[in-house]
Amino acid sequence: KKKKLIAGNWKMNGGIAANDALVRAVVAGMGADAGCQVAVCAPAPYLAQVQMLRHGSALELGAQDVSRHEQGAYTGEVSAAMLKEFGVRFAIVGHSERRQYHGESDALVADKAKAALAHGITPIVCVGETLAEREAGQTEAVVKRQLAAVIHANGHCISEIAVAYEPVWAIGTGRTATPGQAQQVHAVLRAQLQAATAHSDRVAILYGGSMNAANAASLLAQPDIDGGLIGGASLKAADFLQIIAAAR
Ligand code: 13P
Repeated sequence: KKKKLIAGNWKMNGGIAANDALVRAVVAGMGADAGCQVAVCAPAPYLAQVQMLRHGSALELGAQDVSRHEQGAYTGEVSAAMLKEFGVRFAIVGHSERRQYHGESDALVADKAKAALAHGITPIVCVGETLAEREAGQTEAVVKRQLAAVIHANGHCISEIAVAYEPVWAIGTGRTATPGQAQQVHAVLRAQLQAATAHSDRVAILYGGSMNAANAASLLAQPDIDGGLIGGASLKAADFLQIIAAAR
């Protein structure tokens, strides 16, 4: 059985003292073999701190974004090569908060995924519909359009990505997609990946959106849900550890 991937997305939360306590508790609670892959995606200024804290453990490090550019006059941007120097294995790209608040387009997200892949970093490509889009019956069309841009830009490398289905209406709202609702979209994404690569089984398709200790097991039991991208519940060690336990 393929190991699941549980990734915490801290978003713009934390600080030196809080990160120290959280990572130490997660590493201690995970033990040497958590039975699944576990990562935390920290804010850029703390990547070095978390890299040191996780050193020698099974906890992997992720970033929350990456530049589409290699280097140069791009004030405020962080390149994939820079992330790589801090042991970053994963980079979230196209999170709905960046699409919404920073105007990120499908094409930009596809370029960011490409930049990550070029440096051996697994992009966690986020897709998901808004409530209005769901109610208009556009869920499948929206997530397929978002993933198609990334497939188009990345060719045969597409088997090296991870995908996160994050319905916008479920993020930070306490309103989780039902396991059935999530599975339905995951199956669509799986079929789209299958059509693009012979190695689609390598792609982890994560669910994100109010995943917590209470609902993780039923979501992770779905055939096409390969893990979770966890926001709020990844900030509390006890909650995050319970989700990890549910992914064994
Ligand atoms: P919440 O788990 O806080 O709903 O956030 C989900 C998310 O956006 C993870 O990227």
